[in-house]
Amino acid sequence: MKHMPWFPEDWIDEVVVRNDIVDVVNQYVEIKPRGRGYFGLCPFHNERTASFHVSPERQIYHCFGCGEGGNVVSFIMNLERIEFVEAMKLLAERIGMPLPEGTNRERIRQDRNEKQQFLDINKECARYFHQNLMEPNGKDALDYLKSRGLDARILRIFGLGYASNKWDGALNHLKGLGYTDEQLLKAGITVENAEKNRIYDRFRNRIIFPIINVRGEILGFGGRVMDDSLPKYLNSPDSPTFSKSINLFGLHLAAKVRPLEYLIIVEGYMDVISLHQYGFSQAVATLGTALTTEQAKLMRRFSPEVYIAYDGDTAGQAATMKALDILRDAGCRVRVMQFPNKLDPDDVLKQYGPEYFGKLMDKSLSLIDYKLSKLREEHDLNTTDGKVDFATAAAQVLAEVNNSIERDAYIQELESLLGIRSRAIYDQIARIQAMNRKQNKGQ
Ligand SMILES: [Zn+2]
Repeated sequence: MKHMPWFPEDWIDEVVVRNDIVDVVNQYVEIKPRGRGYFGLCPFHNERTASFHVSPERQIYHCFGCGEGGNVVSFIMNLERIEFVEAMKLLAERIGMPLPEGTNRERIRQDRNEKQQFLDINKECARYFHQNLMEPNGKDALDYLKSRGLDARILRIFGLGYASNKWDGALNHLKGLGYTDEQLLKAGITVENAEKNRIYDRFRNRIIFPIINVRGEILGFGGRVMDDSLPKYLNSPDSPTFSKSINLFGLHLAAKVRPLEYLIIVEGYMDVISLHQYGFSQAVATLGTALTTEQAKLMRRFSPEVYIAYDGDTAGQAATMKALDILRDAGCRVRVMQFPNKLDPDDVLKQYGPEYFGKLMDKSLSLIDYKLSKLREEHDLNTTDGKVDFATAAAQVLAEVNNSIERDAYIQELESLLGIRSRAIYDQIARIQAMNRKQNKGQ
């Protein structure tokens, strides 16, 4: 008899998260955006008017005609008429994810124990760091955080801590609780110098930011120096249980905001905390890397609207450009906030207050407006060459706009700004779109 494979929960979770229901349904049924979701003809019963609804936010489908409904897995099971295991395999294959290595119960039990141990170690370590902060030894760190305007409540909510200057503070504390060198190395709490045959604390003399997922599990830590030494930030390493590219700092708190109408993505942990302190609990940050597709999709699951609030400096603006397209492709409505004098969100809140920050949110730009405004800065509109180059680049941006009324409004604006006939801009856009279609077909 063939044994039925038994997939680990983590693996199932990841397959489900990475298979966006809108993309999957779209492969079988033509669905069109309407309201907060998508509608199409139901594949489970015969109909002429679209009553089959897909919700990208809740990642479920429901037919108002026949009552069929469920998530991405049940959709595949019902449509392909296959069992759960087969549906999981199909979905994993669709995103190029290998099947889990061990599909036997013993192996999975072991994995689960290891994961639990990893989480337990992180939890104990977070407790230790937080305690350090409150002790005389942590006075400098506490003073530093207070000088950044953080109060006791915020320190507690985020579970901030302090890693002292000792080489073996966390090491000895956790070994005292019965953990082994090997377990602590694996969890990323300590690092090994093989030459000197020494194991020591990864985080030393740093402010500690626990990285917590929406289930409230502590996955790792970010450590920030209190002076100008480098690296400014240090993060726990990736491991089978913790991937920096699929998690976000602060999301566990943002997810508690009801209703969560938008998220604000910022560059740093301190920005998230500062925004939170001023009443903007919707703030999240990536974990020391550029925004990834997985993170954008994760945000989309919680909110359809995302404000990008990156720093006003050149690096921040370059990161904004990249994040824009990633968020749009994940199905988010994007707004870009712009800060005066190259300030970051933390500076703006401190210098001008939360009301002003709210005003900047109101004045934020849509994706298209932002791209056009950047192009405008790059071109000299007093020269004919500058105008032509700007109009050509703008046509490229406007070719992305699907709503023809919206596109029309932009073209009218360009016409009056540049004195270039709108007819010419329409023609250019049509040419770009034809080229894009050709390219897509060629793929
Ligand atoms: Zn139906």
